[in-house]
Amino acid sequence: MQSEQGVLLELPSVQKSRETVDNAEATRKPRFQQIDREQLSWRAINVERLIAKDHPVRAIWDFVGHLDLSGFTKHVRAVEGFAGRPLLNPQLLISLWIYAYSQGVGSARAIERLCNYDPAYQWLTGMEVVNAHSLSDFRVQHEEALKALFVQVLALLSADGLITLERVTQDGTKIRASAASDSFRGKDRIEEALKAAQEPVEAVNQLSEEESSRREAKARERAQRERKDRLESALNEFEKLEADNKKARVSMTDPEARVMKQPDGGFAPSFNVQLNTDSAQGVVVAVDVTQAGNDFEQLTAGIERVEQNFGKAPKQVVADGGYVSRDNIVQMESREVEFIGPQCDEASKGKSSYEGRGVSPEYYSALFVYDAATNSFRCPQGKTLHYEGKEGHNSQVSYKYRAEMADCKTCPAKGQCCPGNQVSGRSIQRTEEFPEVAAFRQKMQTEEARKIYRQRPQIAETPNLWIKAKFGLRQFCVRGLRKVGMEALWVCLTYNIRLWIRLRLRKEGTVATATA
Ligand code: SF4
Repeated sequence: MQSEQGVLLELPSVQKSRETVDNAEATRKPRFQQIDREQLSWRAINVERLIAKDHPVRAIWDFVGHLDLSGFTKHVRAVEGFAGRPLLNPQLLISLWIYAYSQGVGSARAIERLCNYDPAYQWLTGMEVVNAHSLSDFRVQHEEALKALFVQVLALLSADGLITLERVTQDGTKIRASAASDSFRGKDRIEEALKAAQEPVEAVNQLSEEESSRREAKARERAQRERKDRLESALNEFEKLEADNKKARVSMTDPEARVMKQPDGGFAPSFNVQLNTDSAQGVVVAVDVTQAGNDFEQLTAGIERVEQNFGKAPKQVVADGGYVSRDNIVQMESREVEFIGPQCDEASKGKSSYEGRGVSPEYYSALFVYDAATNSFRCPQGKTLHYEGKEGHNSQVSYKYRAEMADCKTCPAKGQCCPGNQVSGRSIQRTEEFPEVAAFRQKMQTEEARKIYRQRPQIAETPNLWIKAKFGLRQFCVRGLRKVGMEALWVCLTYNIRLWIRLRLRKEGTVATATA
C-alpha cells in the first residue's frame, strides 16, 4: 500500500517474512514424547479395584468359598506349625478353572499367561502367576473330590428349588479327542513304536544329571515317559477291541479315543459325552463320558447316575430316537421312570429303503400275502417265499422269508421287484412288535406325550450348545477316558455355577441366604 509520503505498509515484505517463518517451521521436525523401554517402573495397583463390583469372577470366588473343599486337601503335607512351602489354595485353583472355562479357556498354559495381564485373573490370584503345571495337575488329580464337589453343588441348587427331578432329559454329544485322525495304527506298528520309545527314556535318565538345564531335561524326560505310557495304554486297548475286531486300529496319541460319526456327517476320534438335564431350570444333573459311538446303551446308565447323585430316580426321562429300544423301554418301566421318546416312523423308513433298492410300489412287502398255516408268503406273481430265520432288533422281532432264485430269475417282474438280487431270490420280513413297545408307541400318539417331547430340544440341547459354543469344549484338552471324564465334569460344574449365578442375579437375596 502506498501514500503520498511514501510506503506506509510494506505488505509484500511482511508477507515475505511470514513465508520465511512458515518455510523455516516446515523444515523443522516435530517433537514427540520419547518411549523409554529400558526404564524400570513401579505402579501402585489397588487389586480390589481391578474389576467392577459386579464382575462374575467375584461371584465365582464367593460361591466356591461356601463349598466344602476338604476333599481336595486330604493328602496335603504342608500344615500349619511345620516347615515347608505353603500350597496353592484349592479355592483359588477351582475358581481359576471355573472362571477360565466360563470364558472359553481350557488350557492351563493360557491361564498362566492370562494371570500376567487379565484383571479378572489378577484379582483372583492377587497379582501372582499360577504355574501351568500346577493348574494342569490339579485339573486331573482329584477325581473323587471333583465328583463330590459336583454333587455338593447339585444339593445346593436342589435346596434352592432349582432342581425338581420331575422331568429329566438325556442327550449325547460327540466331542473330539485330543488326537488326529491319522494317529491310528495297527498293533504291529504300536509295538515297534513302544520298543523305540524305551531307549530314549533310559538315555534321558542318564543325561539328566549332567544336563546344564535340569528343567529342560526333566521336560524331555516327562514327554518321553508320557509317550511310553500312551503306547502301553494303546496295546491294552487292543485287548479290549480284538475280541470283536481282529483288524482293530488304535490312536497312538489317545488310545482310548474312538472314531465316531460327527454331526456334519464326517468321522473323527472322539468321546461320547452323556448329559442329563433337569427340565425345571436346565441344571445338568449327571454327566459321563463313554467310548460307545451310539446312545442305545447309555439311557439306563444315565438314570443310575442321577440316582447316585440324588438318592432317587427322576419321574420322567425324555430322550431322542437314539435311545428308543425295547431294552430301554422295559428298563425304564422296571425302574418306574416314564420314558418319553419319538415313535419310529417305520412306513417312511421302509419307503426310502425300497426307493434306494429300486423296488416299485406294486412290489412293496405289504403286497405279499402271508399264509399262517404254512408260515410262508405269496408274492404278487404267485410264487412262494419260504421261512428262513428270525432276527431280534431293538424294538421288535423280525422273521425272514425268501423266494427261490429259480423263480425270481425267470420272473418278468424281477426288474420291479428285486433288481439288485443276482445270487438269491427276493426276501421280505415279517415283524412283530414287543407288547412294551406297542404300549410305548400308543402312548407317544397322545397329544400330551407329543407336547412333552417337543420341549426336549430346548432343554436337552442348551447345555450341549453352551459347553461347545461358549465354553469352547469342541475338543478335549486332556487325553484318556478318565481325564476326559474329569474335563467334562469341570465344564458341567462351570455350567451349573454360571446358571446359579444368573438365576441368583434374577432373584437377588433369596438364593444368597441359602449359601450363607
Ligand atoms: S421276482 Fe420273485 S418274488 Fe418278485 S414277483 Fe417275481 S417271483 Fe415273485
